[in-house]
Amino acid sequence: MMGRLNHDQGQLFYSFSLEEAVPDDHLVCKLAAVIDLSWVHAELAPHYPNNGRPSIDPELMIRMLIVGYVFAIRSERALCRDVQVNLAYRWFCELSIEDKVPDHSAFSRARNERFRDSDIFRRLFEHVVQTCIAAGLVGGEGFAVDASLIAADANKQRSIPGAEWSKECAAKAASRAVREYLATLNDAAFGAASEVRPKFISPSDPAAQWTGAMRGPAFFAYADNYLVDVKCGVIVDVEATRAIRQAEVGAAQTMIDRTEERLGLKPTRLAADSAYGSAPTLNWIVNEKKIAPHIPVIDMSTRKDGTFSRADFTFDKDRNVYICPMGKRLKTTGRILAEHKYRYIASTCDCGPCPLKSKCCPNTPARMIPRDINEDARDVARALTGTKAFEQSRRDRKRVEMLFAHLKRIFRLSRLRLRGPRGAQDEFTLAAIAQNLCRLAKLVARAPPLAATCVA
Ligand code: SF4
Repeated sequence: MMGRLNHDQGQLFYSFSLEEAVPDDHLVCKLAAVIDLSWVHAELAPHYPNNGRPSIDPELMIRMLIVGYVFAIRSERALCRDVQVNLAYRWFCELSIEDKVPDHSAFSRARNERFRDSDIFRRLFEHVVQTCIAAGLVGGEGFAVDASLIAADANKQRSIPGAEWSKECAAKAASRAVREYLATLNDAAFGAASEVRPKFISPSDPAAQWTGAMRGPAFFAYADNYLVDVKCGVIVDVEATRAIRQAEVGAAQTMIDRTEERLGLKPTRLAADSAYGSAPTLNWIVNEKKIAPHIPVIDMSTRKDGTFSRADFTFDKDRNVYICPMGKRLKTTGRILAEHKYRYIASTCDCGPCPLKSKCCPNTPARMIPRDINEDARDVARALTGTKAFEQSRRDRKRVEMLFAHLKRIFRLSRLRLRGPRGAQDEFTLAAIAQNLCRLAKLVARAPPLAATCVA
């Protein structure tokens, strides 16, 4: 006999358990099993007054934001609507079936005030990383660093030429994003990263960088920088910067220092692409941090006209001279030139009658070789190139690229919703928290704890 749905929805009493309605293998159950927000109230307590009307529970807002990032709900308006009707989201947020969902406007108020004052997203990020460490997902031996461009919430049509923008005019506009940018003008990740004036500036978000780095049409963007432990691909630090190389390299240094200070993690090897292979950066990695640089060296010394390159000369560190293919010495005066280089010069008495002169210095009386003041560090990186460990690091670097691909395609974070340096930082930190939680849930998921149950 054909069954027919009973359309009578007027039943007065129901027996209903929210927990039973959520399938055990739903992602929210796995997330609930690995996340601990019991410390949030104590952390935020100093930022709330002791009297007045009770605020919306900050733990609830943080849980909702995690749902938003994990399930790629990019607008807070849509997030509130989805939590209203989705039982699994309600269960994860510890809301009963009758509890009211906060209005979307509460999020921007909390984020711009108490959440930023308390730096709660960074605390939460570190808390999640510590959970990953406790679960054995972080090896601490090898890290990989990289950056990816994320489009800013700024349009070319509303931009102005860089030459027409000034701090004084911007100060009059006084939007939050502009105030934040003006406050970061001396920050190495933003204003101080480069003195080059960008071609276009967005008056509504001047920290967003006009960039054509993706080899397509130029656009306004921020750089999302990840420092990743290569054992299981856990993000151990995240930083928002301007979308230019100097800022990204500076962010790598900031993240390595901070990870050591806050989490007690310092790698023995660092994998990165050639953007991080400049001499000063390698010097910092090798000589200051004592980390093995598995980084391709940026080398401009190879000659393509058939004459000897610098690699054809041997550097004698003890005597501080280069030895040429004829066994003659190239000496330096020890003076550092403007480009942070020493100059090693052969004797004209040696080069004049030399049978190899046409292959060495056909247009000058004697051969000259420049040597960067940090060439020792570059030599260390060169010596590691091609080794088994280096090749492993090259493969490990793909973990960072996969995380960025996941961020853009699955989390749909290809364009920022918030403006200003703090807005970008908040979005990148929350996305990194969500990615780490998903990794944690996938690798160490346990049975879900008891949670909100309601009978209506
Ligand atoms: S030209 Fe001078 S530096 Fe070059 S191989 Fe001859 S002696 Fe050495």
